[in-house]
Amino acid sequence: MRKTKLVITMGPALMSEDNLREALKIADAVRLNASHSIPAERNPVLELIRHTAEEVGRKIPVFLDLQGPKWRVGIMDAPVMLEAGSLGAFYRPEGKVPANVAWVAPLPHPELFSGAKAGQVWSLDDGAIEIEISEVSSGSVFAKVHVGGLLKPRKGVHPIGLDVAMDPLTPKDLEDIRWGIEQNVDFFAQSFVRRGSDVQALAATIRAYGGSQPIIAKIEHPTALKYLDEILEASWAVMVARGDLGVELGVEHVPAIQKQIIHCARKSMKPVITATQMLESMIESANPTRAEASDVANAIWDGTDAVMLSAESAVGKHALGAIQWLSKIAEDADAHPQPQPHRFEEPLPEDFNGRTDVSVATAACLAAEELKAKFLLVFTETGGSARMVSRMAGDVPVLSATLDEVTARRMGLLRGVRSLIAPRTEHLSEMLAIMVPRLKADLGLQSGDRIVMTVGHPLWATGTTNTMRVVTF
Ligand code: PGA
Ligand code: MN
Repeated sequence: MRKTKLVITMGPALMSEDNLREALKIADAVRLNASHSIPAERNPVLELIRHTAEEVGRKIPVFLDLQGPKWRVGIMDAPVMLEAGSLGAFYRPEGKVPANVAWVAPLPHPELFSGAKAGQVWSLDDGAIEIEISEVSSGSVFAKVHVGGLLKPRKGVHPIGLDVAMDPLTPKDLEDIRWGIEQNVDFFAQSFVRRGSDVQALAATIRAYGGSQPIIAKIEHPTALKYLDEILEASWAVMVARGDLGVELGVEHVPAIQKQIIHCARKSMKPVITATQMLESMIESANPTRAEASDVANAIWDGTDAVMLSAESAVGKHALGAIQWLSKIAEDADAHPQPQPHRFEEPLPEDFNGRTDVSVATAACLAAEELKAKFLLVFTETGGSARMVSRMAGDVPVLSATLDEVTARRMGLLRGVRSLIAPRTEHLSEMLAIMVPRLKADLGLQSGDRIVMTVGHPLWATGTTNTMRVVTF
């Protein structure tokens, strides 16, 4: 059984119902990228995802990935070619289009026109194109192309080394957050997080708008590496956002940083997603490269909870094929686990000390391993216990039982965790009487098999886990 979770990015390539149905039989979570859409456009998309997930009988969390403070080229009718050596210009969308240059592109960010200086190097489209600013005058930024390429509308613009102060939430983000809360998305992902306070600002905004979504902090800004601990503390999960990390810090540093982020996330007991270019060649080709297969497996052996597809699933020529390949590679990597530092070797985060629920979860995980339990059954109200157990369960699969649909969906992101909805009963014995026959049939339990469970008394109150029980069938 595959334990690693697969996140796919939604896009035109999956908008046919047949494709999406097949995709959601395999994928575990869906990312909606707010950078490429406005709220109204997303309504039918979300509707289709929910309807299709229901149809295939899977609890699939959907997260809205906020654009955050990232600069992008404006809207153009067609891509423009930036020939190496040519001189071109960016202009304000509301201003005059410069004449007598080889190429022009609109740039809807006033702060860049004041921040641009001759000699600055700008990287475009995640590093694919490189230009050098030659002159800033009369509302235009003139630049010479060092590394040429086809510049498509809405591609990223990254002035290297320019650290203009930016609000962590843009007006577009605020609109998107409102929409996400209205539509009850399961998480928000936050782009270009720099400090724990950025995450807290988003959390406060979500609450002010009446939402309660947890936050996945995307680690893609150099400053975030300095403040990783406080970011981990403030967020529900993190993402290794290798695309922008590579642009910001240099591609050669990505592998080591990936290991560092995954290690820190695990130590803090937080889930982690590894993202970007995992099967990049499959945007065009029907099969992944060996290097890509190795990369996916290595992220899993680094200890990631989930791997993510971006353009591969959103706009790729082989969207479904990419998802199938990702699943196959992950399944094989899961079947060949590499030696990891033992999960009880590292001390738990400080705020885990002296807590009954933590001790019970730890004991349950140790017992499950010693008894070779078929699985750990965790009764969880908000998912806190499931999150903890997923980190410490080692090879034992985890069933997370909850009353709440939203919690059930969110747990779908955790490595090795399967969610189910428990019946609301007053006593544990009644609940087990209903659940055990179902589990026996679903999981093929045989007599003599053992499960280890954790539960709280009273049932279904947050933070009451105080009991571990071993059940032998
Ligand atoms: P993006 O984030 O796809 O939204 O840019 C992921 C990354 O930068 O790797
Ligand atoms: Mn990014």
